[in-house]
Formats: sequence, structure tokens, C-alpha cells
Amino acid sequence: MKKWEANIRKVTPYVPGEQPKRADVIKLNTNENPYPPSPKVAEALRQISAEPMRKYPDPEARQLVEAIAREEGVRQEQIFVGVGSDDVLAMIFLTFFNSEKPILFPDITYSFYDVWADMLRIPYEQQPLNDAFEIESRDYDKENGGVIFPNPNAPTGALLGLSAIEDILAHNQDVIVVVDEAYIDFGGTTCTGLLDSYENLIVVKTFSKSRSMAGMRIGYAIAGEELIRYLNDVKYSFNSYTMNQAAILLGTAAAEDRAYFEETRQKIIATREQAKKELKRLGFSFADSQANFLFVTHERVPAEELFTVLKEQGIYVRYFKKPRIDNYLRITIGTDEEMGQLYAFLRDYLKKR
Ligand code: PMP
Repeated sequence: MKKWEANIRKVTPYVPGEQPKRADVIKLNTNENPYPPSPKVAEALRQISAEPMRKYPDPEARQLVEAIAREEGVRQEQIFVGVGSDDVLAMIFLTFFNSEKPILFPDITYSFYDVWADMLRIPYEQQPLNDAFEIESRDYDKENGGVIFPNPNAPTGALLGLSAIEDILAHNQDVIVVVDEAYIDFGGTTCTGLLDSYENLIVVKTFSKSRSMAGMRIGYAIAGEELIRYLNDVKYSFNSYTMNQAAILLGTAAAEDRAYFEETRQKIIATREQAKKELKRLGFSFADSQANFLFVTHERVPAEELFTVLKEQGIYVRYFKKPRIDNYLRITIGTDEEMGQLYAFLRDYLKKR
């Protein structure tokens, strides 16, 4: 072993879902939106020219921050933007989780949380979901160095009501509580209404799901001005120019098209409700997801087998070989046509099996 080996920060990285090289697949594995971004984004893209790229972008991404603040009904000073909500969440872990006490998050949740905690050497304790895969708010009523959970949770899709969130906040007023609302637009009610009552709350959202812009990498946090200032101090100590010129322009165009956002999210909600019926008929069960995915288990056939045969068929879903969830598949809601092909294949396969 080389001496410098001991000085290396060794990490077990987060593994994102597969992005297949083949274009002819039905891609239901990374919770992307099956619809294109707003036509206003395509229009804004046509206005982009190369010349301004010789200059650095606006380090404050003001145009985008303004558009998001308007859409969220908050002050600009309450918005922090980043390169996808992953970037925003990483900055939040770095800025606010500096206690010796463990931070708390569910045992079944977004699998990036423990990766950031391990990388930044933040102690953590995972609180088991109940048997229905729901967060129990009373599990978060203990000494801790911070709390984070997605709502709806991922990969379960289960939604925690506002009163349960307020219960968690009420019992954790001495630490920062982060609610990761990556999927909130597909059925839940955002908890941004609680920001005025709880100055320790941070709500994180993304353009990757309900705004169909995973490829542009835009996420944001909403919180009180003081917390946003602390976040910006850390960001500027890392990289001033996180948001590039195209992301600022195109994200602004997306944020301003509320009608298109409403239309596509309603389409996805309708397809998801139909998927619940179809998959139940095929022998699957699942938590009542309010996200753009369903987390399903079959009464007879193991999830890993279904994952493999679906992939052979060019239908990509997500499978996690992890305790408690290794007999589940996470299926992103696609278009009605894509979902139709999924049901048709499953119907046929399950009949023969
Ligand atoms: N939070 C949760 C719960 C997610 O599932 C994801 C998507 N992988 C993210 C945050 C990050 O999304 P993005 O960086 O694309 O905004």
C-alpha cells in the first residue's frame, strides 16, 4: 500500500439508474417525465447564441431565481438554485448537518442521502418505515443533528400529510428539517406554507420531474432568507458559477409556463391512477403512490425475474437489491402508450408463468 492511500477520501458512490444506449427502449427506470419540456423552452433554445458563452454566467442566476420566486410566491432571497436538486441537497448536507448527533432519515428512501452522509462523515440513523412503507412521524421525536425525508417518499411513492410534517417540525425546532419535494407536483400538497411558521424548514424541489428537464440539471431550495444566505456562502466557497447560461434561460422559460406544467402533470396523474388499476388486476400490490412512479411487488413472481425479462423486452424499470425492498420494482409512469405495452407484456408473461 502506498503511504498516500491513507489520505484518500474513499467513498462508495451513488449509482444512478441506467441510461441505455439504445434509443428504442421504453424507459421507466429513472422517474423522468415522458413528455418533452414546455414548447416555450424549445422557443427559448432557438434564441440562444454562442457569442455570450465567452463570458461567465450570472453567478446569482437572477433571472431564474426571479422566475422561481414568482412561481412559488416567495421573495427572491428565499430561493437557492443548483445543478439539479442533487447539487442543492449536497450543499444542504454540507452547510447544515455539522452536528456530532446523527441526522435522521427513513431506512427506505432516496439512496443518495446515506452516500452524502458517508462522504461528509455525518453520523446518521435510519428510521424504519412501517409495514405499509409509511414514515411514522413519532420516530423523528428524538435527539438528532437534523432531519431529511422526501415527500412523497422515494422509491415508495407514499405521501406524508401536512399535519404529520408539522408534527415532525414541531418536535425538531432546534435542527434543520429538509423536505425533499422532488415528486410533490404529482399529487401532494407542498409544505412551503409552513415556511412562515418554521424558520428551520428547507423545502427542495426540482425541474427534473414535473418540468421535464432532467437533462438541464436545475433544482432549488426554498427557505427563510437567513438559511439561504448560509447556503450561498458555502456555494460561493465551492463554485460561483453552478448554473450555466443555457440552464438559466431555459429554466426561466419552463418556470413561466404554468399552463403546460399543469397539463402534463395532470396527464401523468391520470396515467398513474389507471396504472394502479391495471397492475392490481395483474396481481401486483403497492403503496398508494402520489409520485410519478409505483413501487410494486407481485403475488407470485419475484421482482428480480420480472426486472430481467422486462429488460430483455426493452422495457427498463428499476430494481434495488437491498434489504426489505428486494422483491419490489419501481416503475416510472410513462405515456399511456408506453404503459399499454408494459401491461400487454406482463399480461402475456404472467399467464404463461
Ligand atoms: N430527490 C429525490 C427523492 C429523487 O428521487 C431525485 C432523483 N434522483 C432527486 C432528489 C434528484 O433529482 P435531480 O438532481 O434531478 O433534481
